[in-house]
Amino acid sequence: MILVASELGEVLSPPVRRIREWPDGAIDVEVMLKNGWRPRPFRQFILKVHSRCNLSCTYCYVYHMADSSWRGQPTVMSRETLAATVHRIAEHAEEHGLPVVRVVLHGGEPLLAGKEYFGHMAATFKDVMPPDVTVQFSIQTNAVLLTESFLKIFLEHGIRVGVSLDGASVVHDRRRVHADGRGSYDEVVRGVKLVTSPAYRHLFGGLLCTVSLDADPIATYTELLSHEPPAIDLLLPHGHWSGPPPGRAAGADSTPYADWLIAVFDRWYSSPDPPEVRLFQEIIYLILGGASNTEAVGLTPSSLLVIETDGSMEQVDTLKSTYEGAPETGLNVLEHPLNEALRHPSIVARQLGLDALAPVCRRCPVVKICGGGYYPHRYRRGSGFRNPSVYCPDLLRLVQHIQTRLRGDLERLDAENDA
Ligand code: SF4
Repeated sequence: MILVASELGEVLSPPVRRIREWPDGAIDVEVMLKNGWRPRPFRQFILKVHSRCNLSCTYCYVYHMADSSWRGQPTVMSRETLAATVHRIAEHAEEHGLPVVRVVLHGGEPLLAGKEYFGHMAATFKDVMPPDVTVQFSIQTNAVLLTESFLKIFLEHGIRVGVSLDGASVVHDRRRVHADGRGSYDEVVRGVKLVTSPAYRHLFGGLLCTVSLDADPIATYTELLSHEPPAIDLLLPHGHWSGPPPGRAAGADSTPYADWLIAVFDRWYSSPDPPEVRLFQEIIYLILGGASNTEAVGLTPSSLLVIETDGSMEQVDTLKSTYEGAPETGLNVLEHPLNEALRHPSIVARQLGLDALAPVCRRCPVVKICGGGYYPHRYRRGSGFRNPSVYCPDLLRLVQHIQTRLRGDLERLDAENDA
């Protein structure tokens, strides 16, 4: 049984408690454990190998939103911290019998760590991880610094490469800029060309694109397709009720992001051989009764942990878009096993599924598919994270559109089978 204190008064700290934002003070993990709840182990680790970036993208949640903790972080994860991180991951994998863990090398811009860093990192994992645990590496980069010598190292260690590209140059260069305002499109495309050259193409994990309402959706999708990515991640820009995303007034009924995404969905869905577009595929799996592999939609418990360059364990780093210090757990790989983070109320909150959602979400007809939206997008100053997503009308419309398309196809198939 899951106990969420705002509904089960017995686990609150009586008689008076400081008013805090949900889930702070509202979840009693000890009581939950006594009642049989068990956390889901971490399986995906975001390693912040470098805390600075060579770009200054206008919407970046690390440098341009509520949290400024990057200023106090070491620029590079030291070898000592890296070794402690790998030992903790190995310990966690062994303790929970995990056959596979995913390690995402992230920043800032991870390539700033230098190519030798990645060889050393891979060797450390090889030395420390139990032989029966597979480590799947990937790196998320802006690709500006990507060279063949990096790719040779990635090839040697099987590190897949994801690149951030926001569409055509006119759109990308407005947002993904250097500190002096210069666009980065040409440099990024040069990097994409390198990783899609025959020797490295199999390392290419795909493109990550943050949706921009001022960009034409089909032109954006066509630009992304032109690089033949195996997968495309379409991300909603980060925002919440107290700091809404661009073009979205909190609480308004309009659906600008759904309209944008639906235009892409319809093109993607009608194509004979489309790449994976994870958001759409996850929604389809969920409609068909499956589970999601992303926190963006669905009720699957989160199993992701972020390790900062100083070894701090953090919740999902996009929480930096909400308020100063939001992702912190107060734990560090140098002193604490990862299991301690599994008991942190804010991490528990992201494993509660339906029990973490606002009443309006629980009553929603698409709740099992939408899942209340991405956790940071639910934030409202004063009440915390127990709200519907600031994107609620967009999510409802997108899910219902995909449901309608699927239902139509399934009915047509039924009719054909009956004929
Ligand atoms: S569509 Fe809105 S109300 Fe429904 S689950 Fe999603 S965020 Fe909650």
